[in-house]
Amino acid sequence: MRITSRPSPNFGPRRDGLVPSLIVLHYTAMADPDEALERLCAAEHEVSAHYLIHRDGRLFQMVQEDMRAWHAGAGTWRGMDDINSRSIGIEMDNDGASPFSEPQMSTLETVLPEIMHRWNIAPEGIIGHSDMAPGRKADPGPRFDWARLARQGLVARSGTSEPIEDPAIETFRSCAARLGYPTDIDDATLLTAVRLRHRPWGEGPLSQEDFAALPNVSHFLV
Ligand SMILES: [Zn+2]
Repeated sequence: MRITSRPSPNFGPRRDGLVPSLIVLHYTAMADPDEALERLCAAEHEVSAHYLIHRDGRLFQMVQEDMRAWHAGAGTWRGMDDINSRSIGIEMDNDGASPFSEPQMSTLETVLPEIMHRWNIAPEGIIGHSDMAPGRKADPGPRFDWARLARQGLVARSGTSEPIEDPAIETFRSCAARLGYPTDIDDATLLTAVRLRHRPWGEGPLSQEDFAALPNVSHFLV
């Protein structure tokens, strides 16, 4: 994979000797990929990511993988904070409303397994920004094709949960927490975040479909 280097000054050492155990996927929410790259490399903005994948499929690296890039901000996953110290951040060049392009997804599918192999990261460790920062962040958004990545075994597969008789919010919160979602958020915010990832166009009150959309969590319920 050809990588274009665009070094950003916005990084530091990973804290407490942490190494990446997660990969956080983002969209840039900007119409112009060059402006997005500039922003991620401008000291005054104090943001960065390890990689940006251009909509034409080109891969840019801004921060070395062993360093701590500034992409995740406040939030938790599996009860862990300082996600920046624990993750690799990948920005997808996307305005937040358009579909992700084929060359871009193809590059992601090439680079993801390489990073997962280098740092021994399991598919369950690939998350969206919206997973770890519900309510605050919505990227990579409902148009992102998680199912495509799941079919290749690169991320946890949605819709493999056992049917559940009583779709109670307490049970749903428990399932979401076992998957890794933060627990210090209200029911509606949690439901929105889980749907963004596992049932992108789901609407209305909590239902059987929301449980059915989850990755297999049945073994968490016994
Ligand atoms: Zn983001």
